[in-house]
Amino acid sequence: MTSYTELGLVNTVELFKKAVSGGYALPAYNFNNLEQLQAIIQACVETKSPVIMQVSSGARKYANQNLLKNMAKGAVEYANELGCDIPVVLHLDHGDTLELCKDCIESGFSSVMIDGSHHSFEENIALTKKVVEFAHSRKDYVSVEGELGILAGVEDDVSSEHSHYTQPDEVEEFVKKTGVDSLAISIGTSHGRTKFKPEQCTRDANGVLIPPPLRFDILEEIERRIPGFPIVLHGSSSVPMDYVHIIEKFGGKLKDSVGIPEEQLRRAAKSAVCKINIDSDGRLAMTAMIRKILAEQPEEFDPRKILSPARDELKKLYMHKNINVLGSANRV
Ligand SMILES: [Zn+2]
Repeated sequence: MTSYTELGLVNTVELFKKAVSGGYALPAYNFNNLEQLQAIIQACVETKSPVIMQVSSGARKYANQNLLKNMAKGAVEYANELGCDIPVVLHLDHGDTLELCKDCIESGFSSVMIDGSHHSFEENIALTKKVVEFAHSRKDYVSVEGELGILAGVEDDVSSEHSHYTQPDEVEEFVKKTGVDSLAISIGTSHGRTKFKPEQCTRDANGVLIPPPLRFDILEEIERRIPGFPIVLHGSSSVPMDYVHIIEKFGGKLKDSVGIPEEQLRRAAKSAVCKINIDSDGRLAMTAMIRKILAEQPEEFDPRKILSPARDELKKLYMHKNINVLGSANRV
């Protein structure tokens, strides 16, 4: 059994308070391997940004939970070595059972998400409450993120778009009854690189898809009901067309890619939204560079020569996000 303080990690409580009052959002970046972790730490140290490193249950299967835990410990030491003591959170992304959350908490996570959003409102409350009771009773307080509303996405086959948004009249009861530390909401962001179907979008003069705007009216109503309470946005990649074009130029196929415009995320970050999850953009950045290197240097077979440009591009992307989108730079 490991407590996160032994790994040099912190929970989200103080970080979210500062983010809400300071009008910025913390970056929540997923990692599954060494290069992603290096890029996250380098970018956040150089921009002096606190950071939430996220591990999904898929990442635990892909990389092994013990390896990931020790990589997180190494990441804290690496940040110190680079000369900036940035606060680092290790967070479980989309936990779906009490057992998984317990397992992560006992192996050193400082924060967990329990996603009961696919259950009924009552079942979501009951499940989330159980996770909160376990997490908050630890010697070192572990923070918990809950979710209300379902994000649209290509995986969803529910036809009614409106039923996915968070219902503002449910948030007070949910927060009060569960005791969560933060709440993920659905206001039009979406997982993946095809966040909307083409028929939901308009097109600009170049034929690039323009998505429907985020529902800031719902966000404002939620903020009115739970003032200052930390809000989380999932599925907040912007799907830069530069990366999509590089990938397609070198043989990739990414039809109908569309993300959330960065100006809208910047606006959200200035509100009670204090954690913004960005994953697809990082995948696109790495894939673009890997495809480019493999195509332009067909004789190359050293994985380091293939992966280091991908890592550098990822770092560049994350620095840009911290400085220009989230506003989390220079907050340490
Ligand atoms: Zn998510």
